Amino acid sequence: MYTGIGASAGIGIGSAVIVKEPSLAYDNKAVSDVDAEKKRLAEALDKCIAKTQAMADDMKERVGEKEAEILEGHVLLLMDPEMTGQMETSIADDKMCAEAAVEKICDYYMQMFSSIDDEMFQQRATDVCDIKTRLLKILLDVEDVDLANVPEGTVLVAEDLTPSMTAGINPKNVTGILTEVGGKTSHSAILARALEIPAIPGITEKISNGDKVVLDGSEGQTYINPDEKLQAEYEQKRVAYLEEKAALAQFVGKETKTADGVKVELCANIGKPEDALKVVECDGEGIGLFRTEFLFMDRPQIPTEEEQFAAYKKVAETLEGKPVIIRTLDVGGDKEIPYLALEKEENPFLGFRAIRLCLKREDLYRPQLKALLRASAYGDIRIMVPMVTCLDELRAVKNMIAELKEELKAEGVAYDENIKVGIMIETPAASLMADVFAKEADFFSIGTNDLTGYTMAVDRGNAEVAYLYSAYNPAVLRSIERVIKAGRAEGIMVGMCGEAAADPLLAPLLISFGMNEFSVSATSILATRKGISLWTKEEADAVAAKAM
Ligand code: PEP
Ligand code: MG
Repeated sequence: MYTGIGASAGIGIGSAVIVKEPSLAYDNKAVSDVDAEKKRLAEALDKCIAKTQAMADDMKERVGEKEAEILEGHVLLLMDPEMTGQMETSIADDKMCAEAAVEKICDYYMQMFSSIDDEMFQQRATDVCDIKTRLLKILLDVEDVDLANVPEGTVLVAEDLTPSMTAGINPKNVTGILTEVGGKTSHSAILARALEIPAIPGITEKISNGDKVVLDGSEGQTYINPDEKLQAEYEQKRVAYLEEKAALAQFVGKETKTADGVKVELCANIGKPEDALKVVECDGEGIGLFRTEFLFMDRPQIPTEEEQFAAYKKVAETLEGKPVIIRTLDVGGDKEIPYLALEKEENPFLGFRAIRLCLKREDLYRPQLKALLRASAYGDIRIMVPMVTCLDELRAVKNMIAELKEELKAEGVAYDENIKVGIMIETPAASLMADVFAKEADFFSIGTNDLTGYTMAVDRGNAEVAYLYSAYNPAVLRSIERVIKAGRAEGIMVGMCGEAAADPLLAPLLISFGMNEFSVSATSILATRKGISLWTKEEADAVAAKAM
């Protein structure tokens, strides 16, 4: 078994077909007739634009508007007078043939884009590479690899699947895609997900043409020539996956509401800006928790205000005006960041962490709050404070935000004057004071992961006491009930972003208590929408009364 990252979920079982791009070698001689060469280039550009537009139209019809946008972006690039002008200049001044001019200018843009450490620019580099290949093929009269007619039950294996190659795929025949390059957010991964074909990047070298391949795009696992028992096991998994998917498909694009029409909001939790796209793809109604600590991890120093601003803005823009709750830095305890050089503590879970740390380290906190305020001009960003235990902490954060707003105003920088500031309810102190907090916080989000641990006085890592770590425990349920009711009594939104929000058994209780936002992992969105739809308010009330 080979493990990679699952770029597109689902189980694929089939025979490997290795796709090799044809050679695009050409004779690199100086041209004598510059005008004729310019004409060749112009004709190739026209052909390429027409072809790409046709692929985009086909994609729009077969897959969707959003996916077609990638190819429409290619059309715009091909019409960019700056880029095509540089190609013409290379022919005129350097006597290059059209192929060499295309290659030189595309390589220049690819290099420029890929040197910028931003995913969007990296993707732009891939787009230019795809365009270069398409233009060279037209100039050299080389046929495209025909992916539309591969036999049924094909697992495509390729160095990379460019958006134009992926656009030609017939999902009826292709059961899986394995590429050497491309991450979870590459265009080919996005297209594979849109075509609902399981895909895994990073595993191709061990595979030969005709090999039997089983891939699990949800887990990122690939088996080459597995025995019959494993094949049968995965065949069953495949059927179960498809059945579950079909059952949930009816909830795509639907409102999240109970059987008798009580509406709630269904959002998702993310850790990285890139994850926001998945939330949109999975039909989330917003982001209920963006754990910003991931921006601070796996790097040598604090991300700058500028870097943070770019990350928050990206999420806000991806969500196109839907709510985005961004939690300020929650480190300490089990979340370590080496460069902060925090001292080892006897009881890290009860120590110097989250908001306690941020209020002492304004060098850390102010840039984050300022970045959040600046990004709030680009969407519905809300600020959430973690690990709150007393009112002074919330007030201190709000004061700091008020000061930063003044700073921004003086600098003439846009921000949302009415940005909401809410708190995580994940400590017994916050729960017991929920009625008081509800008067000063704009919203609550219940963090059952920590609230369960702190309420039950249980260390999650200790197997001896793990039986106590459950949100079903009456003490935790009472805490949840009082928080929801206290928040609703003051008319503020009360959500839940701990794992318990995705538990279908808890749904009737949360509905009965009046919770109005559920935030779950992107992959749990549809199942949670279904879970909520199964209950009427009356039935939920009856279950809650009995449980409590
Ligand atoms: C929680 O405690 O429930 C929560 C959502 O926060 P985290 O899991 O990041 O601690
Ligand atoms: Mg927590």
